Amino acid sequence: MNLVLKYGGTTISSVADILEIAKHIKTLSKKNNITLVCSAVNGTTDDLIEISESIRNESKANARRLAAKITKKHDALARKTIKKPSNKKRLLQKFKQDFAELDAVIDGMVLLGEVTPRTMDYLISFGERLSIKLISAALVDLGAKSVPLTGKEAGIVTDSNFGESRPLMDTTRLRVSKTIGSLLAKNTIPVIGGFAGADQYGRITTLGRGGSDYTATIIASCIKSDQVWLCSDVDGLMTADPSIVKNAKILKEVSYAEAVEMALFGAKHIHPRAFEPLLAKEIPMRIRSSYNMENEGTLVTARPAAKNTVKCVSNIQDNGLIDIRGGSMVGNPGTAAKIFATLADAGINVMMISQNPSESSITIVVKNTALDKAVSVLEMGLLGKIIKKLEITTDVAIIALIGSGMRGTVGVASKVFGAIEKNKVNVAMITQGSSELNLAFVVKNSNSKLAVRALHEEFELDRIN
Ligand code: ASP
Ligand code: MG
Repeated sequence: MNLVLKYGGTTISSVADILEIAKHIKTLSKKNNITLVCSAVNGTTDDLIEISESIRNESKANARRLAAKITKKHDALARKTIKKPSNKKRLLQKFKQDFAELDAVIDGMVLLGEVTPRTMDYLISFGERLSIKLISAALVDLGAKSVPLTGKEAGIVTDSNFGESRPLMDTTRLRVSKTIGSLLAKNTIPVIGGFAGADQYGRITTLGRGGSDYTATIIASCIKSDQVWLCSDVDGLMTADPSIVKNAKILKEVSYAEAVEMALFGAKHIHPRAFEPLLAKEIPMRIRSSYNMENEGTLVTARPAAKNTVKCVSNIQDNGLIDIRGGSMVGNPGTAAKIFATLADAGINVMMISQNPSESSITIVVKNTALDKAVSVLEMGLLGKIIKKLEITTDVAIIALIGSGMRGTVGVASKVFGAIEKNKVNVAMITQGSSELNLAFVVKNSNSKLAVRALHEEFELDRIN
């Protein structure tokens, strides 16, 4: 098979893990064409972002301290992971150049005293620049043929929207298929840095946090891979959070659409656009553990065989609910637009929205952390004009049921709310899009675990597979 394997940062952060993964990849590469995509070593991207914040705050010493932390961590990993002296020496030399460049970039940014989106992307792409060299060297040390490539070197071309760029797929396809194709033809394992690419002018761009998933699926689409595996510290997508529901199960198969929903809420956060490149050719994705190969994890396909009504119950704690009321909202076009524009201008992300047909109230849910700001901008901007009253509930949880089998199935809602009622839990708000893929409702934080357990039982999710 032609496989793209992406390794998350937490699973390439210790000597033992890197060695185990390298061994496993070498074995897999005997029977398959393997292309690797790596995240940065755990915590590196966060440290790089903190460096940029330190520069902004003119705290040069902190920026230096963090750069030294990154340097030290990678240097130690290289020394301990790579056994053969010549391989070790080569890697340390390459690292030395990267470390010097990292210092120079920081010096330049400090000197200018500014952090632009463009310099920021250049800075935060360093994590993957280092990790690919380490992983590729570990493979070479085991006797495999391997070459590290940054996203730019692999041929990922994006627009110039620094920090949240999108791939220009046609150009990318031409370049990536050529670079990777020629390496695979020589039985060489490409180790590609996730997260970053370059725009048409060759300037480094990044795809947004968690972007290595996206890199993996872009590459998979370009080289017409048979499958892409996201290997990390989770065993797969689950029917519920196992810390809440003891008998939660790993889902064997879900659809792309279900996975998108689950990725937003679940333990395995996946870059929201990562599924896009897979859709046209229907390339299956497997979400699995980096180490535990007995466990096949979750397969994500266009049309899964299992058609369960509900596949998972998730729980997002710590949100605030705002009920926005006013008689003049009724029959007044543009009310919702004003409310949401006010929130958007303040940079507030709205997670849930509902309006009843009487139009006298619009209810929204935002994160607890954004609640204060949301309430104050609504008060300042709209109270006494189109809004008469704001009613606020803090510390609420969103419970979401996900499953495409809910579409057109009669009785799901009655089953859900019947189970909730039996447990005497009060529901503050309900939403369901017409896709019927996701039914969500809001309860108090303190009731959320009870609600998740009740629904897991009601839909017999412990027997899903
Ligand atoms: N290293 C990047 C991040 O932490 C990309 C990734 O891990 O997927 O966001
Ligand atoms: Mg990551």
